[in-house]
Amino acid sequence: MNDRNTTDSPLESAVGAAGPGAVDAFERVGDETRLAILLALWEAYEPFADENVLSFSALLDQVGYETSGNFSYHLQKLEGHFVESTADGYRLKQAGHRLVRAVIAGRGLTDDRLAPTEIDLDCQLCGGPLAVTYENEQLYTVCTECEGRFTSDGETPPGAIMQFAFDPAGLSRSSPEDIFAASVLRAVGKFTMQMGGLCPDCSGPVEASIHVCEAHAPDGICRNCGRRDEIQARWVCTTCKNTGHGPPGPNLVLHPRVVAFYAERGLDVGYVTNDFESVVQMLTAMSNHEQEVVSTDPIRVGVTIRYAGDRLRVIVDESMRIVAVED
Ligand SMILES: [Zn+2]
Ligand SMILES: [Zn+2]
Ligand SMILES: [Zn+2]
Repeated sequence: MNDRNTTDSPLESAVGAAGPGAVDAFERVGDETRLAILLALWEAYEPFADENVLSFSALLDQVGYETSGNFSYHLQKLEGHFVESTADGYRLKQAGHRLVRAVIAGRGLTDDRLAPTEIDLDCQLCGGPLAVTYENEQLYTVCTECEGRFTSDGETPPGAIMQFAFDPAGLSRSSPEDIFAASVLRAVGKFTMQMGGLCPDCSGPVEASIHVCEAHAPDGICRNCGRRDEIQARWVCTTCKNTGHGPPGPNLVLHPRVVAFYAERGLDVGYVTNDFESVVQMLTAMSNHEQEVVSTDPIRVGVTIRYAGDRLRVIVDESMRIVAVED
């Protein structure tokens, strides 16, 4: 138990593994004027423009400040961290862009929801119509007729087939099919980074592990683990604690040997943004990846990929590293 030192700031008391850098960063942006400076610089920023600076006076003007004394103090707090000063003025550094982008994406700021809306796709389990629904910054694909792949609890809606993290800004797409396609592509991008040991949120290192349900029910949703899939791969970022999880198979969809296997049989997977048909083809292929435990000590999981009457088998270890590919 920590004895809280009452002379510490709440930020210092709470910091833990995030380190003093996090306290410093929060303190630097914990002020309305400084946030206004970041927003004003972002507003002035034009992607791919030659110059992306605001002069001191233009910045002062943009933020609505009349005197420069206090303003300089706030600007100095941001300089070197979120803002860079050049001979011509001020501009956002990468960290400043990331901070503003998180706000623009709506993360944690809005409570956007989307009531279940049917899409032009049938459930692989029962053939019923699928729908997309959004809450807690997750896009769920749900079956309107069967119990889906997961136990419905307070967070997971009934009939959930897929659950992908999705930013609220992504909901502005024009159709539920577009929203669905974007959520799948975003997830596949995340799979690829996780498989490479890279956190999609902070670029820190990610650790993978395999979890096998010890009392798995072969049919329907298992009461023990709350899933249909016996084997779950988990990823945890050791820097920011971002997590990912899912059956191992779909995470292999962009492995070079898997991509080649599909390509040789006429299916291109990969860059298919906003193309609902292509995303559905890729997803159908991914959903057919079957996994089984081939050894328990050490853990080895075999993923069988079938397409056009042929198969490819990929063996992964307890850290989701690929140890063999068998034609
Ligand atoms: Zn269904
Ligand atoms: Zn189970
Ligand atoms: Zn991270």
